[in-house]
Amino acid sequence: MAKIKQNIIQQTKNQNNYLYPDTYHDKIPVHQLPSELNLQHKKDHLDTYASSVSIVDTQTVTVQKYNSDINSLRNIAGEIVGGRIADCGKKIVASKNTVDIVNYSKSYYYSGLEHCGSVWVCPVCNYKISKYRAEQIHNTVSNIRAGCGSVGMMVLTAPHHRWTNLQDSLDVVINSWRKVKSGRKFIELKQKYNYIGDIRVLQTTWGKNGWHNHLHILLSAYCDEIELEAFAGKLFELWQDKVQKADFKRPNKQGYKFTVVYDEHGISNYICTGGIADEMTNVRRAKDGNRTPFEILQDIKDNKGNTEQDIRLFREYATFFKGKKQLTWSKGMKNDYCDLKDKKDEQIVKDETRGNIVLSLSKNVFKSIVKADIRVDVLNEFALNGIKGVLKLLKAHGIKFKYKPKQKLIL
Ligand SMILES: [Zn+2]
Repeated sequence: MAKIKQNIIQQTKNQNNYLYPDTYHDKIPVHQLPSELNLQHKKDHLDTYASSVSIVDTQTVTVQKYNSDINSLRNIAGEIVGGRIADCGKKIVASKNTVDIVNYSKSYYYSGLEHCGSVWVCPVCNYKISKYRAEQIHNTVSNIRAGCGSVGMMVLTAPHHRWTNLQDSLDVVINSWRKVKSGRKFIELKQKYNYIGDIRVLQTTWGKNGWHNHLHILLSAYCDEIELEAFAGKLFELWQDKVQKADFKRPNKQGYKFTVVYDEHGISNYICTGGIADEMTNVRRAKDGNRTPFEILQDIKDNKGNTEQDIRLFREYATFFKGKKQLTWSKGMKNDYCDLKDKKDEQIVKDETRGNIVLSLSKNVFKSIVKADIRVDVLNEFALNGIKGVLKLLKAHGIKFKYKPKQKLIL
């Protein structure tokens, strides 16, 4: 572990592109033990639709447990990484005077809070972003197939071992695919197979051989499935060449997969694996005992395995994935084949305006609620006992307030 530790210290000294450079290193020193971390994950925290409280439908227990888990994981990630994620769902939007409790269908959520928008490190924002991206991919695949195009998925990786530098192994994966696509041979293959486009998704897991960075490439062309598989095979050969040229071992066929997509259902979820949305429906362990970064967070939360190492791993992951593009569409594909509006990650995490405001909380009252760590309790109380329940709860926690019934405002 000393090597990784040394590596992290060295890399963070040498680089400027850390995640939240102002707090990343100061917040939790590398040598700090997990027991010293004040991990505030005992209580649930809710704030948005991805983490709203629903008390009426039959899935109440599942929804509340999921809310509890995902928010606990965000708290842990915030403790480890610091910066914006530590404020995600807690900080009030500057232009707002109140934080509102909004009711939509059978759910209640907070509106007026800032979100970090980090697809890599924040489980709550990742959930929202992955959900939207999955819908876009689903729609695109559906449109391509409706137009008699073929779709398939390739998985590409480069050989690595436990001590492969994460920056190097990320660079080789990202750059090799870029080089494949900018080469003369790719232009020839595009024409030969009537290429439509591709969507590239970057993912990683941690396992006995270190960080396993890989690309999921959703490849589409106006040719039949057999030809598409041949097309993918040729691309894999180009991939082998580019990886080898970067002084990595030539990838063998074991690290290559190709699957024809016959049905768009499920593909969008699969291509977005590693996201928390996936883990919500299916607590997935990557193959061969590998773990996704959010599974590492889960293990930290459950105090399972080597927590000290897991904290370092998550911090390392956060540092090196900062600023990397998770999803890249080939030119024109989104415009031509996706009906859904294109949105930036930051926009997706902000967008939630459905429902009616049922109660407003002044900034001071909300800050006291955050301090008392009762954000979820307030939503639960509202769902169960209405405003009266919330007022009683605030009183029980010694929070001073005034209630204006006509405005439904607590201040
Ligand atoms: Zn966030």
